[in-house]
Formats: sequence, C-alpha cells, structure tokens
Amino acid sequence: MLEVKTPEEVLRLIEKAFHPLGRIETVPLAEAPGRVLAEDIRAEEFVPDFDRSTVDGYALRAKDTFGCSDAVPAVLNLVGDVRMGEGAAFSVPRDSCAYVPTGAAIPAGCDCVVMIEYTEDYGDGTVGILRPGAPGMNLIFRGDDVHPGKTVLRSGRVLEAQDIGALAAIGKTEVPVCPRLRVGVISTGDELVPAGQKPGPGQVRDVNGPMISALLREFGAEPIDYGIVVDDEKLLREKTGTAAESCDAVILSGGTSAGVRDAACQIIGDLGELLLHGIAVKPGKPTILGRTGNRPLIGLPGHPVAAFFVVKLFALPLLARLDGRTMCSRPVHAALSESFSANHGRMQVSACSLEEKDGRLVATPVRSKSGLITQLAGADGYFVIDRDCEGLPKDAETEVYWH
Ligand code: AMP
Ligand code: MG
Repeated sequence: MLEVKTPEEVLRLIEKAFHPLGRIETVPLAEAPGRVLAEDIRAEEFVPDFDRSTVDGYALRAKDTFGCSDAVPAVLNLVGDVRMGEGAAFSVPRDSCAYVPTGAAIPAGCDCVVMIEYTEDYGDGTVGILRPGAPGMNLIFRGDDVHPGKTVLRSGRVLEAQDIGALAAIGKTEVPVCPRLRVGVISTGDELVPAGQKPGPGQVRDVNGPMISALLREFGAEPIDYGIVVDDEKLLREKTGTAAESCDAVILSGGTSAGVRDAACQIIGDLGELLLHGIAVKPGKPTILGRTGNRPLIGLPGHPVAAFFVVKLFALPLLARLDGRTMCSRPVHAALSESFSANHGRMQVSACSLEEKDGRLVATPVRSKSGLITQLAGADGYFVIDRDCEGLPKDAETEVYWH
C-alpha cells in the first residue's frame, strides 16, 4: 500500500507523471470560446491600420493653436470632413483643420485632434479653437494596439469573450485549439441505481455519474458515460479496460477504500501503474491515481461530496496538464460568518454560501453530516483550510473558490 500524500505532493506528482498530449485541431472563431488555445497567436497586421481620432473634434496642427484660449481663439480654415469608414483623401494645410468623428482616419498634415467641446464653428468656413492642441493629443497611431509579430494570446489560455474580440481584430477566424479531452466516467457499487429509477431497499441513486459528467462539461471536456458497474472485480476490470482504450482519462467513483469488495485499487494497479493511494484532504482521503502510459486512471471516493472536491482539486488540474491549459482560479474574498474548526493534519475543504451584508461579502460554511449531497446543492463556493491550521475564527478573511 502506498503512503498518503499531501495535496502539494499530489499536484507535483501529477506534473511529473503526466505530460501534455500536444494535439491540435482548428475551429472557427464562433466555436472557440471555452476552448484551450493550442499555439501562441501572433498578429500579422497593424491594429489599427491607420492613425485614428479617439474623439469627435477637429484634426489640426498643434503649433497652429499654441497660446489660444476662450478669449483669444485660434481661427482656422475648415477644409474638410472625414467620414467614418473612408480614408482621409485630402491633406490639411497650415492654419486649417478638418472635422473628424471618433475613430475616423486623420488627414495628412495633422498631428492632433481638439475635442469638439473646445471649438466653435463660425459657419463661414472657419472654426475657432479655444484650447491649444499638443502633438499626439486624442490620437491613436497605426499599430498602437497591435503590430505584426506581436504575441496577442499565449497557448494554454482558455479563450474568453475578450480573447475572441482580439482574434477578430487581427483577422484570425480559424483558431488552433486542443481537442476536447474524452473522459470515461464509471460509477461502482452494488447499491447504485440510475437516477431515473426508484431505489429499492438499501439502494441509492447514482449521484456521482451525472455530477462528474457535469463537472467535466463545465471544464470543457467530453464525458463518456460508462454507467454503473456492480462490485464485481472482473466486470469492473473489463469496463475500466474498455474505457481506458478509447478515452484520454478514466474516472471511477466508489470502491476506493479498504472494504473487502473494493477492487478499484487492484484493478488500476493491474491495468497499469498505481501512483497514489490516499490524499491528506478532508473529505477525499481514499482517492487513488494510476496511469496506463500517459492516460490517468482516477479512483474517487464514493461519497458524492468527497468525489466532488477531489475532482475540483485534483482531477481537473490533472486534465489541465493533459490539454496544456493554464489554470486560472479567481477566488473572491469573503469574511467567515462563524468560526470553523479544522481537522489538524489534513487539508480541509468546505462548501459555503455567499451573501452580501453591509457592503461586504460573507461566507457561511455549509454544515451537515459527511456525504450528504445537500451540502453542495445551492452552495456558492468552497474554501480550503491548510493542513497546519487548526481553524478560522469568525470574521476571518478567506478565499472562496468556485472554478
Ligand atoms: P465507497 O467509496 O464505495 O465505499 O462508497 C462510500 C459511500 O458513497 C457509500 O455510502 C456509497 O453508497 C456512496 N456512493 C458510492 N458511489 C456513489 C454514487 N455513484 N452515487 C451516490 N453515492 C455513492
Ligand atoms: Mg462501494
């Protein structure tokens, strides 16, 4: 039997034992949100491709307006009007100006734009400028945003709406992404029935199968449902072997502790190599991890709450290693509504609800007996207490995670 590892040791083991699959597929921009970028994206064009005004106003030469004011406006000849979506086909001579809307091209000869608010159109072909311009004022120059060769996005990023915007700006309508990971999901236990079936005496509905599939979908992987397998070593071995042949990873739940009928550990060891049996985390200790080649075989504890947190804390980082993604957690800070004592020696995870009270975010731990799925239903996040911490007092600032 392997020794129990700390969460940090498990994450290090994952880095060491698995490597990115390095597969690439190309998808149209519309299908790219949520996908993992497989290559760095470099621009091949200038953005913007022409010098543009950032305000509505008059394009002019700054030096023609030096020293002007409300009392002594600079009076310039109005020589044109630039339209949106058209280049400026004329140039502006000395002591002249041209009207430009926000985002329009700047005519040759001009080096700044004075906002319309600081001007007065006299209606006789001249415009009064009431505030002096300065070179570069209210302009964005060709290539200010992006120039050819600039890396706009790095591989490993999970693409979000703002990234799609940047890709559109540089004309990338086809995006290289990692193919979705196919992850086999197997529930084990003599007591399990599918969620659509009424449980008989001593039976319970399969919670983990649908829940783990949902976690995988949220993550952007493709769950492959292998259903429920009874506690029969031969059947479980066959099913796990089949799943391992056609998936990038397999997640089993149930049957990972030391019970007589608990075969997952043996099977994972036989199919490949057992890497881990036991993580110092509560809930979630009886977790196992193995591999056949670069393919992880993950055995989760059957308790749905434990299974949930082990997927969040360890299985998803492992899958991220396979598809080369950069994990980016964005915890929110909240004050604990009540003190929370922890299990000395094991990292502890607790679900919590979040609420805004008197202008600050307050986290209330969800307390119920271990294994009750109602701990998770309706929770807004979870927080983690390190293994060497005995607990947190009321009002302690804590980081609440969800993704
Ligand atoms: P095990 O890890 O097989 O010892 O199971 C521990 C507990 O989790 C037992 O109460 C099981 O009934 C329960 N359990 C195991 N698998 C599931 C599942 N897929 N859905 C709901 N409960 C489960
Ligand atoms: Mg069981």
